[in-house]
Amino acid sequence: MDSINLLKKLPKMDKILNDERFSDLNRIILKEAAARAVASARADAEKGKEPDVEKILTETSIIYRDIEKGSLRRVINATGVPIHTNLGRSPLPECAADELKKVVCGYSNLEYDTHTGKRGDRYHHVSEYLRMLTGAEDAVVVNNNASAVFLVLNTFAKGKEAVVSRGELVEIGGSFRVPDVMKQSGAKMVEVGTTNKTRKADYDNAVTPKTAVMMKVHRSNYEIVGFSEEATLSDVAQSACDAGCVSYYDAGSGQFIKHLPDEICRDKTIPEDIASGFDIVSFSGDKMTGGCQAGIIVGKKSLIHKIKKNPLMRMLRVDKMTLAVLQSVFRLYLTGRANEIPAQRMISESIESIGLRASKLAALTGGEIIATKSTVGGGSCPLAEMKSFGVAVSVKGVSESALDRHLRRWETPIIARVGERVYFDVRTLDEKDFGIILDALGALK
Ligand SMILES: *Cc1c(COP(=O)(O)O)cnc(C)c1O
Repeated sequence: MDSINLLKKLPKMDKILNDERFSDLNRIILKEAAARAVASARADAEKGKEPDVEKILTETSIIYRDIEKGSLRRVINATGVPIHTNLGRSPLPECAADELKKVVCGYSNLEYDTHTGKRGDRYHHVSEYLRMLTGAEDAVVVNNNASAVFLVLNTFAKGKEAVVSRGELVEIGGSFRVPDVMKQSGAKMVEVGTTNKTRKADYDNAVTPKTAVMMKVHRSNYEIVGFSEEATLSDVAQSACDAGCVSYYDAGSGQFIKHLPDEICRDKTIPEDIASGFDIVSFSGDKMTGGCQAGIIVGKKSLIHKIKKNPLMRMLRVDKMTLAVLQSVFRLYLTGRANEIPAQRMISESIESIGLRASKLAALTGGEIIATKSTVGGGSCPLAEMKSFGVAVSVKGVSESALDRHLRRWETPIIARVGERVYFDVRTLDEKDFGIILDALGALK
């Protein structure tokens, strides 16, 4: 039959919508599902395949359930990358979710001082903990670190000059580029040094009457190795201090505790950044910190006060959900319970402990244990490779790419690593995930 006649065999939309199997379903979702099922059958008909009404009805029902479930779902991270930007960066500790629920499902004292009965400050809920954790005088939190960078530059360097090293003109994930953010903030960028070498004298020599900020940026996704030199944190802080301008460090990921040895990652901690003399330091809430998306700004009280007075603050401010989660995560650090923060636990876990979990998964799946290396992810310690174990699996008659696709499309999608073989890097796996992996593999046998 030619395709014109095949197309005539496609069911009318009304026929699907009025099918009695669908009588209890939501009309809006059903229409969408039916339209997609018919469109797919039409494409098949154009290729010469005869439409099967019964199949279209089944397909409509499958698409309906899929839409109903929503597209944002839990996945299993078997990549070994703890701070995986595409997989939602840091998972939250359970207690943070509990605290979030308590605070947001009812009313809260978000901006209310219960002692005085007057209006309170929403940032106060996290600034006290941040002071204690970092040694900074004060703190404020905004939507993410990108907005923190923008806000700091806009507050102190709008219409003035901000000095930055040519070796630190970072691009993170496409749309965030230091030169572009500077421009948008109204600051005039003054580049100093060269790509591979920047010294303290370069900062000193760049000072003009218009210099307002000296900025240092964490090289989050690259390193400059070989014939290279970088002004230290204290150098930049000192140079700014001598010039009477604000020193600002965009620390990127930001860690309160150092887990990885210097040979693997030379990054300093936020308390060390502050101790080196920086007036302002900002970092992400959901990278090494292990909380939710947020831009955390810590530093001198008078400067934080100015930032809070910037009208942009109202646009970049965070919701109670962010504050509830951060409060809970910061408390874990303060009380010596950082290992309850998943990102922290995964980064600091010993190879022996990972090995034990790998043996269990290998025994369950009949897979083979392989030595591998995982990266931290999320612009943290770009060159750091942590020893890890993977469990490689194969299914007879199923190619590597078909296996990978099957796992990705499983009810709870499983994101594995694919090299010569498909394998699960156990660093980011919880034993609770093993059942799902077994079910997915079992479905292929
Ligand atoms: C990740 C990163 C940012 C952006 O932080 P978000 O929280 O993702 O907005 C900015 N600067 C540096 C150096 C970073 O590593």
